[in-house]
Amino acid sequence: MLVVMRKGATADEIRGVAEAIEARGFRAHPIPGAQRTAIGVTGNKGALDAPVFESLPDVLEVIPVSHAYKLVSREVKNEDTIVRVGEVPVGGRGLTIVAGPCAVESREQTLIVARAIKKAGAHILRGGAFKPRTSPYSFQGLGEEGLRILAEAREATGLPVVTEALDNDGVDLVERYADAIQIGARNMQNFSLLKRAGRAKKPVILKRGMSATLEEFLMSAEYILSEGNYDVILCERGVRTFSDFSRNTLDLAIVPAVKKISHLPILVDPSHGTGSREKVAPLSRASAAVGADGLMIEVHHAPNTALSDGPQSITPEMFAQLVQDLKQIAPVIDRSLT
Ligand code: PEP
Ligand code: MN
Repeated sequence: MLVVMRKGATADEIRGVAEAIEARGFRAHPIPGAQRTAIGVTGNKGALDAPVFESLPDVLEVIPVSHAYKLVSREVKNEDTIVRVGEVPVGGRGLTIVAGPCAVESREQTLIVARAIKKAGAHILRGGAFKPRTSPYSFQGLGEEGLRILAEAREATGLPVVTEALDNDGVDLVERYADAIQIGARNMQNFSLLKRAGRAKKPVILKRGMSATLEEFLMSAEYILSEGNYDVILCERGVRTFSDFSRNTLDLAIVPAVKKISHLPILVDPSHGTGSREKVAPLSRASAAVGADGLMIEVHHAPNTALSDGPQSITPEMFAQLVQDLKQIAPVIDRSLT
């Protein structure tokens, strides 16, 4: 349910209504808007008694929310959400580019790639310190040492960093070192991890599970918002289909589908979405054209010797060319790329 405050309601009045909602055993989520503030109400088992809330002071109206997803939906908040990773906005008119190696392999490798992507025009550095690998014998990431290297790369380049947390202890660590927490495809429905991320003080990039429906994807985001963290960025990274010429099938149609019903920003990851280097640039251009708020791209200076996802990693030179191409596309689709 959505409790809409009358226009011009003061911060004190909004707080008063939120407290009245919480005193009745529910959770209140104030959502400031351009016209007026609304308060999302969650925590109810069944239907809520609208007149009880309508009679609260300074409340204009009470609107039932019809979808299972509430806080992520445009019913509750119509304006596009802009999430800040460090100082970098994700959402709105800008196209935001997240780039970097699949995994942090060493200090030298991370600094080389970080400097190269910064020079080419990336906005946020990515790199896994905790890697979810299919085989337990594959490189698992450098752990906390990897987080320290990412923090050093941020110092060196000024780029904010995002890295994946695999479990609740990982969120504690990632929250301490990084500017955003990535929840990977394999963990999209790890509900205890989603709740922990919902209590984090950093934004979350939530990747779509490899067989998740749109509704499941949004419900996972809802878990994070319902715990009080409203800074969620979605990321499409391909789903499993019968199609056998790429690692996954990049489901670009989910971008306009998300935009229609949710205010959250959405990135596209054409690296995991295709699994091969030569497909990354074409699908990146398509992602921008379809309305994505940005891209997440794996870049490695020596992809043939990368410890993970080398075949889908593009070189810094390929990345620089791609950014130039995106700069040409951006104005055509009423976006800016700075
Ligand atoms: C990654 O971004 O390195 C990653 C493991 O992605 P996904 O969770 O989408 O597979
Ligand atoms: Mn990867």
